[in-house]
Amino acid sequence: MAAMAPTKNDDQPLHILFFPFLLPGHLIPMADMATVFAARGVRCTVLTTPVQGFNIRSVVDRANDSSATGTPMSISVVPFPDVGLPPAAQSGRDLATSGDYHDRFLQPAELLREPFRRFLSDHHADIDAVVSDSLFHWSAHAAAEHGLPRIAFLATSMFARACTDTLLRCNVFESCSDDPCAVVSLPGLPHRVEQRRSQMMDPAKRPHDCAMFQLVHAADRSSYGELFNSFRELEPGYAEHYRATQLRRRAWLVGPVALASGSVEDVASRGAVAGALSPDAAGCLRWLDAKTASSVVYVSFGTMTNFSPEQMRELARGLDLSGKNFVWDIAKGSTAASSDPSTPEANRGYIIQGWAPQVLILNHPAIGGFVTHCGWNSTLEAVSAGVPMVTWPRYADQFYNEKLVVEVLGVGVGVGAEDYASCLETHRVIAGEAIAESIRRVMGEEGDGMAMRKKAKELGLMARGALEKGGSSYDDVEQLMEELIARRSSVGCTADGQR
Ligand code: UDP
Repeated sequence: MAAMAPTKNDDQPLHILFFPFLLPGHLIPMADMATVFAARGVRCTVLTTPVQGFNIRSVVDRANDSSATGTPMSISVVPFPDVGLPPAAQSGRDLATSGDYHDRFLQPAELLREPFRRFLSDHHADIDAVVSDSLFHWSAHAAAEHGLPRIAFLATSMFARACTDTLLRCNVFESCSDDPCAVVSLPGLPHRVEQRRSQMMDPAKRPHDCAMFQLVHAADRSSYGELFNSFRELEPGYAEHYRATQLRRRAWLVGPVALASGSVEDVASRGAVAGALSPDAAGCLRWLDAKTASSVVYVSFGTMTNFSPEQMRELARGLDLSGKNFVWDIAKGSTAASSDPSTPEANRGYIIQGWAPQVLILNHPAIGGFVTHCGWNSTLEAVSAGVPMVTWPRYADQFYNEKLVVEVLGVGVGVGAEDYASCLETHRVIAGEAIAESIRRVMGEEGDGMAMRKKAKELGLMARGALEKGGSSYDDVEQLMEELIARRSSVGCTADGQR
């Protein structure tokens, strides 16, 4: 049985503990999300490790500087578990570069369980709720021990979450042949969703991943509710599907959180090591200033994608064949950075090594398209900037996000990726011709290019509207805050919100 929640005085501001997963793609949106709640008068503490704390320092300082409510936001740290990784390697940016590093980085995620429990033991009386990354499935038990509601943060779209949920609950591969090209249907969703077997997390091939996701989903199901960095208008039908159909979950959509500060300059460097942008960043923005509107394609694959030298050459050839201007973000230290991509003529392209000011680039008027791996943050940042996409998914939720972008929203063209494989595995090489063709379609002045651009701009406006007073995300923040305040006075409330 769950412990009784401590009773708090209604006059005190709500206090929410945010506990982000260590990787940049999880840390960044959770830090941004905390600022959304801080701006509404919630006292927010982000519990993380020292290097991660350092990398989001700018977010917290900005939130405190601009706070109209006077409620402070803070970072509490627990040591990065001692697995022999020096501080410089603790940001998680090199995850795709070696299997040894990959394993040593992910091990600490499990080892944070005890420090987290100790933190809750010491501070639970002062906390109203824990927003924990969904991947920390064990935080459900620790929160319940202290009578605290655990709200899972899903660093993905509701669409992808609903698809994964169906995959794990229904035996969708049962009636399907082993052929990688076999089409698998995901039943019961608001849209007809079908994928090739090769694009999915196949339990027969990845039993450990599936077992891990079963644990994660079980913990989320037993939690108070789930928070998404998304907005209702972007995924119509999915909030209802989540709340009303067989899932019967509480869900709040409070994004796009990267827009919450109101200024794209402010968020450009959050997540970078010690907030330091690439030395190429300022030059890149000046270079963009000299280009005409919507004439440049931005190419970036997040923080964990590593292409083979052969794929790099094809990508460079594709950019060349497309005839379009480009900005290409190549992660420093990746195989990609050390290989020679033989880039096309210099005045047509700008290469950034290191941390690119992605949000700033996407919002630059010169940008007309984005070649992306469909990580959810990148996808949502493009949607918010009104930029159509060339989609190039690799693993995790990325193939589902591609489906949402291309088939449901109609703001992207797929490059033809078909093999689900982790950041350390080999992928089938996509030819330069296919890359060039997709870029030309997205950036085109005619046909579906125009329609996609128009739709992308409309979605960008909706994204901003969702955050404004009376907008859907603004209202969801309000609703969650009211529920947590009401919960304070309900005696004998258990951690899963049941009386
Ligand atoms: N990002 C950035 N500059 C970079 C690389 C990444 O600002 O050079 C940010 C990007 O804006 C996004 C996040 O890092 O917010 C990457 O998250 P996403 O979910 O797109 O991909 P992941 O890295 O998790 O695969």
